[in-house]
Amino acid sequence: MPNRSLERIVRGREVSDGAGVRLLRVLTSDLQRRLDPFLMLDEFRSDNPDDYIAGFPSHPHRGFETVTYMLAGRMRHRDNAGHEGLLESGGMQWMTAGRGVIHSELPEQEDGLMHGFQLWINLPAAQKMQTPDYRDIQADGIPSLTSAQGNTLKLLSGEFAGQRGAILRPDTEPLYLDARLAAGSVESMAIPADHNAFVYVYQGTIAIGDEEREVGARQLAILANDGDSLRLAAREDSGALLLAARPLGEPIEQWGPFVMNTRQEIQQAIEDYKQERF
Ligand code: MN
Repeated sequence: MPNRSLERIVRGREVSDGAGVRLLRVLTSDLQRRLDPFLMLDEFRSDNPDDYIAGFPSHPHRGFETVTYMLAGRMRHRDNAGHEGLLESGGMQWMTAGRGVIHSELPEQEDGLMHGFQLWINLPAAQKMQTPDYRDIQADGIPSLTSAQGNTLKLLSGEFAGQRGAILRPDTEPLYLDARLAAGSVESMAIPADHNAFVYVYQGTIAIGDEEREVGARQLAILANDGDSLRLAAREDSGALLLAARPLGEPIEQWGPFVMNTRQEIQQAIEDYKQERF
């Protein structure tokens, strides 16, 4: 099968979330069906504390997983089950909200650069009400591969080139790679053709596919499901997130921080939250 082609470039939109954190919402809700099981991707990047200092005070989630990956900065996490963790540069937190958590995500710095990503991945219907769980993985706990081209590939989740990532999920098999590509290098990567996939370039410029369509910084490239490999040609020193996963093909009903399959389940989530059953 050929290399996947670029279907569409998405630029996302600037939003304010939490208690006033400025971020770029790259994967917006209108793309949830196309990029199933991925529900949302935010990038936060600022060296102005006014953009991030307020953080994300106590709020609930139900029905999916949140993956927070920090490139620079420190964020403290606390939840209503008594879990607490500090997310530092290069580290990741993988939280399974399942039937419900209430947590806060607050910066633990008053100045300097804060740069990271939060990805939301849907859970299969059968697992939406599972027991909540989370894992904090420090930078040295994320497998780092060196490609034949000499590029560094950080394997946050999934299996790639015979290696296992920090997290494995059997149902959707999400592959989450942070690829650091040197100018002029070309990488080819295998990705199952039936997995939905996208590349988010956070630094530099990368040309995708045999047509070498260029994708610049802060742009997301949706990959067509027309091949089982991906070709990336770095035009300059670049950094990109590569995400791919098997779609669930189930109904998606979202109300803010709750993502379920039906409106009735959303009503139940709102009721359970009000009644302090999380
Ligand atoms: Mn949250």
